Amino acid sequence: MKPMGPIPADFGVRDGALLIGGRTATALVRDAGETPLFVYDFAMIERRIARFRAAFPSIDLHYALKANPFAGLVHRIAPLVDGIDVASMGEARTAIGAGMAAYCLSFAGPGKRDAELEFAIAHGVTINLESVGEAQRALAIAARLGLRPRLAVRVNPDFELRGSGMRMGGGAKPFGIDAERVPELVRSLASEDVEFRGFHIFAGSQSLDPDAIIEAQAAMVALAARLAEQVGVAPSRLNLGGGFGIPYFADDVPLDVERIGAALEAQYRARPAVLANTGFCLELGRWLVGEAGVYLTRVVDRKESGGQTFLIVDGGLHHQLAASGNFGTVVRRNYPLAVAHRFGAEPDEVVTVCGCLCTPLDRLGDQVALPRAEAGDLIAIFLAGAYGASASPSAFLGHGPAPEMLVGTP
Ligand SMILES: *Cc1c(COP(=O)(O)O)cnc(C)c1O
Repeated sequence: MKPMGPIPADFGVRDGALLIGGRTATALVRDAGETPLFVYDFAMIERRIARFRAAFPSIDLHYALKANPFAGLVHRIAPLVDGIDVASMGEARTAIGAGMAAYCLSFAGPGKRDAELEFAIAHGVTINLESVGEAQRALAIAARLGLRPRLAVRVNPDFELRGSGMRMGGGAKPFGIDAERVPELVRSLASEDVEFRGFHIFAGSQSLDPDAIIEAQAAMVALAARLAEQVGVAPSRLNLGGGFGIPYFADDVPLDVERIGAALEAQYRARPAVLANTGFCLELGRWLVGEAGVYLTRVVDRKESGGQTFLIVDGGLHHQLAASGNFGTVVRRNYPLAVAHRFGAEPDEVVTVCGCLCTPLDRLGDQVALPRAEAGDLIAIFLAGAYGASASPSAFLGHGPAPEMLVGTP
């Protein structure tokens, strides 16, 4: 038997059945008409946003859309956050379509094409510049359009976020502009007709270490102050990135966000004079939406092989790649999962849950202890709210994408 990660405490149970947003998995699947299915409980996301607001009263909250771009969900998040961070023109369209003012969008990501820069400039989206070459292209496009672009500089910091699952800054990186090259670029921007929107620094993702995050944020504030001093330009905004993690695996401990909030608020109050008029923001993805999602899939077959029991389900890594261990992890470990109609019941047996794809990579639960499940039963795979549907190869093997559904909304 191998351990599973923790099931978020927000999910209820009625007569032994898993409840998502107060409804049973069976009822949700009946409404959707098919399995597999992604369900997102918006009430959980609202509670996360409220918790952020309480812990970070002086810091703006942006949603990093790539964590979950499902239109229904973005539509509900947009009025509750101060901005949305996008990483493509498609994501910018989704955010604008969800009612977010284009002025409140920022556009990060290496390799923005000319058409994307033009779209951002025409709509007044802030471009987080990832290179000197991108700055030159943006300026040329703005001049051609006769518009004043909103430009921020993404800084590749000279440090990294210790212990994060995915490193996004520090050392040689495709993201951002090395800190020592930033002053020259900002000085050259100051001589152009641009609205300078400040600095963007993103050091890493999926961190569960509050001390490492506090340390990295303090270093970001110090770096931004140093750069602003060097160029003599006060940044209107300092975007401190995302990266708050959620517990996926056995022994992961939930992040003490209140402690991070207290430290960042203290940093903000004591910020250097050059940042006196600088607004701070965080752009969070995973921590806001990750725990709110459940992937529901139905057992198609139950079989024995080599003395082990396999449950074969109608879903797989083509929808929930991360749960198979093939998205950003080195060692495969088990996400939490449950038999939906026997939620919380004592396990009867050890089984391996495999997806329906014809590849040995498609394992959703490896030797996990579960109540007995038969063909036709629903399996719930938790932590499917971030980097799930949109981060999986849904065209692989031709089963097509899974429907997505929002619950917990009035
Ligand atoms: C992905 C990303 C985020 C969000 O990261 P999370 O770990 O989901 O919070 C924030 N900012 C940028 C620039 C990103 O690329």
